[in-house]
Amino acid sequence: MPSLRQTLDSAALELASQLGLDRHEARIETAALAGHGFGVNRAWLIAHDRDELSPERLATLQALIERRRQGEPVAYIVGQREFYGREFKVGPGVLIPRPETEHLVEAALKRAPQNARVLDIGTGSGCIAITLKLERPDLAVTAVDLSAPALDIARANAAALDAEVAFIASNLFAALDDRQFDMIVSNPPYIPAADAHLTQGDLRFEPQNALASGPDGLDAIRLIVAQAKCHLAPGGWLLFEHGYDQGETVQGLLKTAGYAEVFLEQDLAGQPRVSGGRLL
Ligand code: GLN
Repeated sequence: MPSLRQTLDSAALELASQLGLDRHEARIETAALAGHGFGVNRAWLIAHDRDELSPERLATLQALIERRRQGEPVAYIVGQREFYGREFKVGPGVLIPRPETEHLVEAALKRAPQNARVLDIGTGSGCIAITLKLERPDLAVTAVDLSAPALDIARANAAALDAEVAFIASNLFAALDDRQFDMIVSNPPYIPAADAHLTQGDLRFEPQNALASGPDGLDAIRLIVAQAKCHLAPGGWLLFEHGYDQGETVQGLLKTAGYAEVFLEQDLAGQPRVSGGRLL
C-alpha cells in the first residue's frame, strides 16, 4: 500500500494537470479532501504523512479526488468554506463565499453607526450578514434571499455560529414593505450572462442566478440602486460588491440616482470591487 504522502502527491499532480491548478494549490486541495474524507485535521495529516493508507481510506480518498477531477468545487465536496475567519456551511444551493467579499464586510463595518439597522440582500450562505452581526453585536441585522434552499443554509450557519440574524424570503425588497434601514449591503450577481467564466471552473457548479445578471451583468445592481432609496433612513449607506471593470459605470449609477459621498474601494488584488454612497 502507498503511504499517505505518496497518495496525496500523485493525486495533486493529477488534479494540477486536469484542472490547471498550480502544484501548491493542488496539494492544499488534496489535503482538504483527505481531511474531510478521514474526518481528521491538518495536524493529523502531517503526523501520519508516512503511514500506509488502509484500503478503505484509499478508496474514500480516491472517490473524493475523482469528484474534484470532474470539476466539482472543493467547498461543495467538503461542505464548507472559511469566510472572515469562520467556517460556513455551503452546498450547491449557495454561492461559495469569496475572499473579495471580506472587503465588502470591512467597508460596511467601517461605516455602520452604532446600533444601525442593516439589511443584506441576496444573503446566500449568510456569510456577510452573519459576519457583520458577530463582528458588531450592536447591529440589528436582517438578511433576504429569494432562494428557499439558500435561506435554509444561511439559517443553519447563523445557528451554528450563534449569530442573531433575521432571515426573510424576499426577491430584493419585495417582502419588506416600507421597512427602513441605516445600511444596505449586497454581493449581488454581477457577471454578464454571456461571460465565458460562467462555464469555467467552480462557477459551472454554482447557482447561475447568484452569479449572472443580464447582458452587462448590472441588472441586479441597477434595481438595488433604485429600490434601496425607498428603504434607507436619512444618512443611510448603500454598499455593494461589483466586477473589477464595473467601477466607473456603478459610480455613475449611484451619482445619477442621487447618492452622496459616493466611494469606490479596491480589493486586496488592487481591483475596484466595492462601491457605495449614502442618502442625505
Ligand atoms: N451574500 C452571499 C455571498 O457574498 C451570496 C451572494 C450571491 O449569491 N450573489 O457569498
